Amino acid sequence: MSKYDVAVIGSGPGGYVAAIRCAQLGMKTAIIEKYDVLGGTCLNVGCIPSKALLDSSHHYEDALKHFEDHGIEIPGDIKLNFKKMIERKAAVVDQTTKGIAFLMDKNKIDVFTGMGAFKDATHIEITNGEKTETIEATNTIIATGSKPASLPFIKLDKDRILTSTEALSLKEVPKHLVVIGGGVIGLELGQVYNRLGSEVSVVEYMDRIIPTMDSAQSKELMKVMKKQGVKFYVSHKVSAVSKKGKEVTVTATDKNDKEVTFKGDYCLVSVGRKPYTEGLKAENAGVKITERGMIDVNDHLQTNIKNIYAIGDVVRGAMLAHKASEEGVLVAEIIAGQKPHIDYNLIPGVVYTWPEVASVGKTEEQLKDAKIEYKSGQFPMRALGRSRASGDTDGFVKILSDKKTDEVLGVHMVGARVADLIAEAVTAMEFRASAEDIARMSHAHPTYAEAVKEAALAATDDRALHI
Ligand code: FAD
Ligand code: NAD
Repeated sequence: MSKYDVAVIGSGPGGYVAAIRCAQLGMKTAIIEKYDVLGGTCLNVGCIPSKALLDSSHHYEDALKHFEDHGIEIPGDIKLNFKKMIERKAAVVDQTTKGIAFLMDKNKIDVFTGMGAFKDATHIEITNGEKTETIEATNTIIATGSKPASLPFIKLDKDRILTSTEALSLKEVPKHLVVIGGGVIGLELGQVYNRLGSEVSVVEYMDRIIPTMDSAQSKELMKVMKKQGVKFYVSHKVSAVSKKGKEVTVTATDKNDKEVTFKGDYCLVSVGRKPYTEGLKAENAGVKITERGMIDVNDHLQTNIKNIYAIGDVVRGAMLAHKASEEGVLVAEIIAGQKPHIDYNLIPGVVYTWPEVASVGKTEEQLKDAKIEYKSGQFPMRALGRSRASGDTDGFVKILSDKKTDEVLGVHMVGARVADLIAEAVTAMEFRASAEDIARMSHAHPTYAEAVKEAALAATDDRALHI
């Protein structure tokens, strides 16, 4: 029987990064993945394919609607080759997952393909079809991720009533896509299909979209996406979904208790994700799972069994790839006897619509709830030379800082490339910068990043220079 210092179950951005860090630290490492392809949700049916479709559909929309503004005329009709767009997405995924296989090889990590299940706290049985083998591991990291959640009355047929996985590989562009849930997936994929010509209706239970982000971001993104043609129905509680032939009917009640129906040819159910532990047989190792199906962990991501850890979507916290990866590194270093730390307040959140939406730290709502006195500085993208040059004038940067100390407490952005700009805010907050610190740093001109400096100037003493 093969013996390992560490076995990692699951090869998503949590698992594969944990395995690499373990190997870097000199531990003999195995990774177990039930699918033939490594990379988990993120690489196969999450971050990477959704961004590939967002990028492709963005080019299509630019060609249709914006090239002319720049003096670019295309003779004849612009045609969409949806099949090719989906094939390109698959090629991007293929290239990226092969990259992970290369990294496993480079770091001398043994890859086992098959379902990993605990026999006891130090033995894992790996089953692939008829074949079963058992390995011994001194430590195990559970990184089994998550699956799409649904509503109890919905029968996901995966043909017309879809999760994000099927919505990333459709064979045709929907005529009318009804999206249940105005969160990250609903808005990213809703925007993809809106650009490709679908009518898109987003039905959201809360009174605003992306309800966990700062309310100014919800308002701005909804305003811009409405201009792009997406229809929004907030404060609508979905109560039934049915299918007849090619027609899907979604029934909801609005805030006045009035029943509203939406008829489409496809429905995307994007109401969150749930931790995945099926088939893991955690009970054989004595590992505790919470009522909500999560693996229960302490601050060191250690389960109730001391040699078994868990990371990523299967444990508490934001279901984000970079959060899973940070946790993978943390656990590897803890096993190696180091004392690493993650500041969960500084894990950024991004929505890759256009304009992009990015956040780090506390929202204005959270500061109010916690009764923390703060200052707010905001700068609109439309006042930037760079935004006018590119034609991306929607959005803003908002910086919230402590009223007394000026320490930056939260940064919230909507606009072009803010998914990349948020890194500046994370860096500043990691070093506990004040708004004035950011305001005094030189930002290249003309860039979108100047909005960060201007918002910091606005938060410092209402000193923004260009509004
Ligand atoms: P996963 O990536 O889910 O990987 C878990 C792996 O474990 C899977 O490969 C699974 O097959 C395997 N597994 C499970 N059980 C077993 C077992 N018993 N034996 C063997 N293998 C097993 N996050 C971002 O940060 N940015 C984004 O842009 C983004 N976009 C997304 C878009 C979509 C459409 C979706 C669905 C998600 C997106 N996410 C994004 C979320 C991100 O994908 C997850 O947070 C991330 O993949 C979690 O990583 P993980 O390693 O915890 O689990
Ligand atoms: P989400 O939590 O972002 O959004 C779900 C939305 O559905 C919420 O706005 C919620 O209020 C709404 N909802 C819940 N029940 C409803 C009902 N009965 N009727 C109408 N609306 C209802 O979840 P998601 O969009 O499914 O994404 C799942 C996870 O994947 C998220 O946790 C996210 O972190 C991750 N993800 C991240 C990215 C990214 O980082 N860019 C992209 C996609 C997914």
